[in-house]
Amino acid sequence: MKKITYLLSFLLVSTFAFAQVPKSEVNNKPQGHYNISKFKQLEQILPTANTYRTASGAPGHEYYQQKVDYKMDIILDDANQKLYGEETITYHNNSPDDLEYLWVQLDQNIRASDAITNDIKAGGPLTSYNPQKFTETFLEQPFDGGFKLDYIKDMEGNDLSHIVNGTMMRIDLPAVLKSGNKTSFKIKWWYNIPIHTIDRARSGYEHFEKDGNNAYVIAQFFPRLAVYNDVEGWQNLQFFGRGEFALEFGDYEVNITTPADHILDGTGHILNRKDMLTKKQWKRYEEAEKSFDKPVIIVTQEEAKESEKSFSKKTKTWNLKAENVRDFAFASSRKFILDAQAVKIGNKTVMAVSLYPKEGNPLWEEYSTKVVVNTLESYSEQMFDYPYHKAISVHAKRQGMEYPMICWNYGRPKEDGTYSERTRNGMIGVITHEVGHNWFPMIINSDERQWGWMDEGLNTFAELIAEQRLEKGFPSRGYPKGIVDYMSGDQSRIAPIMSKHENVYQNGPNAYSKPSAGLYILREVILGHDLFDKAFKTYAERWKFKHPTPADFFRTMEDASGTDLDWFWRGWFYTTDYNDIGIKEVKKYVVTDKPTEKAKAAAKPYGVTIDSFLPALYLVNTDSEEYTEDMAKVKDPSKDIPFLNEYLADNFSPEERNSLKKTKYFYEITFEKPGGLVMPILVDYIYADGTKESKYYPAEIWRFNDKEIKKVFATDKEIKEIIIDPNQLTADIDTSNNSWPKKKEDSQFDQFKKNTIKN
Ligand SMILES: [Zn+2]
Repeated sequence: MKKITYLLSFLLVSTFAFAQVPKSEVNNKPQGHYNISKFKQLEQILPTANTYRTASGAPGHEYYQQKVDYKMDIILDDANQKLYGEETITYHNNSPDDLEYLWVQLDQNIRASDAITNDIKAGGPLTSYNPQKFTETFLEQPFDGGFKLDYIKDMEGNDLSHIVNGTMMRIDLPAVLKSGNKTSFKIKWWYNIPIHTIDRARSGYEHFEKDGNNAYVIAQFFPRLAVYNDVEGWQNLQFFGRGEFALEFGDYEVNITTPADHILDGTGHILNRKDMLTKKQWKRYEEAEKSFDKPVIIVTQEEAKESEKSFSKKTKTWNLKAENVRDFAFASSRKFILDAQAVKIGNKTVMAVSLYPKEGNPLWEEYSTKVVVNTLESYSEQMFDYPYHKAISVHAKRQGMEYPMICWNYGRPKEDGTYSERTRNGMIGVITHEVGHNWFPMIINSDERQWGWMDEGLNTFAELIAEQRLEKGFPSRGYPKGIVDYMSGDQSRIAPIMSKHENVYQNGPNAYSKPSAGLYILREVILGHDLFDKAFKTYAERWKFKHPTPADFFRTMEDASGTDLDWFWRGWFYTTDYNDIGIKEVKKYVVTDKPTEKAKAAAKPYGVTIDSFLPALYLVNTDSEEYTEDMAKVKDPSKDIPFLNEYLADNFSPEERNSLKKTKYFYEITFEKPGGLVMPILVDYIYADGTKESKYYPAEIWRFNDKEIKKVFATDKEIKEIIIDPNQLTADIDTSNNSWPKKKEDSQFDQFKKNTIKN
């Protein structure tokens, strides 16, 4: 059937095209909008490939990265909310370069009383302040939360010359650190821990007025090496708060001293866990290691409530050890309940762990560990098997923040233990997202400070897949239809995804939902699951435990899918254009063997009459004046047209020839594109008999005209309805032009319902 349609379209359309308009008229028509730039290759924009990073998007044969190991002794002073640390840092210079100095990140300096963070904020007063915010903004001395550096010494005890520059510190080495060599030095420091519930820090403590306890979620707590690499030398972007982190991999040995009644967990193995728990709790822990179907509660709510009263003056020291991680974080409180469940990932057992105060229940006991399990399984399917031995979800009010093996998550019921659907879904979403960050960026270690979307966007996409695996229909963000409001909004508040995190309005849609929606379109519309999934996995495999850049991602996705996607990256990632495709006009033609007026007119300038032609077929527009129903009664073309007859006999079976006798409709559909993006056209043709045909026209259909294109469609059935993008897969911002005949607009109620689903 396809062959015939093709042949007929060819014959008729060429006749039709010839017959359409005299040449002079063609020249008066607008020449279209030749679209050479939107399909131009990205070569001039992407960095030149080299021996560190190949043109295929893989690490090159000379790829290197630095390694930094930390040995730390930490004291958590709960009575005064201070953190003390002494650390030995060993820096391995794997780069081909000799280094004169090292740059260290002092992220807590964002809370130093003289931090520039406040000075770079501009804007008038808020319209209202709660009393706490008012006091904090206008009355209080700024909180003094910066690092206090006691010393920076080499291993012989000599002071090292250094200079602090905001959240960075340069340490001058006594001798040049040669390529391939390593050096060690010591830093002693302390700082005042901030209350994270007040100043929205990514780390700090929450104070519980009722029982007088604190719950600590501690991160960015030690001076850490900045990244040095082939892309930017030393990463020297200051920490302003939003742009997250760029960190090297390394091994950690960390001893943390807490009050004796605290429960702690953090990055790495707890080497002396048995000594830290009661006998009963240890037995439960061992049970949890074999419990694959449900979590086992290791520290119960009753035990936690008892601890809340004890305020022990004694201390204990937790010994943790982690290999090949890019950061270290921990949580500690005497309020913590602890539960865990075993998960099989490949041939390894991983522990899914939750840590929460009683204020998180009943929600946390019911959902947290279950969500961790699902995330570990889903992300392992999507990318690669989770390589670490555990993943911990810690409940911390208003937090959603990720570290290797551990993350902080919000979702707190009301005081009476009830909670809304929204709180529950928010909690499931944030746990999935933050546990998912173990892949992006903890293992696929992109530079978060420079490229927020590389971890947030890719992770929001993987999160969506994981959430749907847990609960079909879960209100995930990151679908194409969820980004429509943003993309159609005020252009002066929208930046391309390829912008620095810190510098954009509307960071949420910019770095999270829009990249996710883009990946969704690639998977569902452009590449399909097989090509997309393989390419996405290839990117993850190539760059796990390494430092990828945007170009490595773009190139790998093309390399592994065998598809040129430059036009897609260019439009979706480098511009703020939106997608809007519509149906401008639909013309119906039937086949006739009677020369049409148009055909006669077209033949005239050539000095021929239509009758001198070989017998031919013509298309007549059913809306034209000359059209009569009689014209549509086509004779048997295979009999009446000798050369066609021969062709048909040679190439088509008798059944196929027979089908030519049926009435043929030809539709000329004009698609318009008010949107700036080029995008495939997804069309459903719905026939009068109720059947449906879905068509896919690749984005390249817009190569020669960026504004409108025509498509001629041959069918033996009459079309009743045409719909563009019926399943809302392409973030089309205006669906009022998506159907023919034009549909009535949604009622206001439908509009309202649609809008409330988003984000
Ligand atoms: Zn995130």
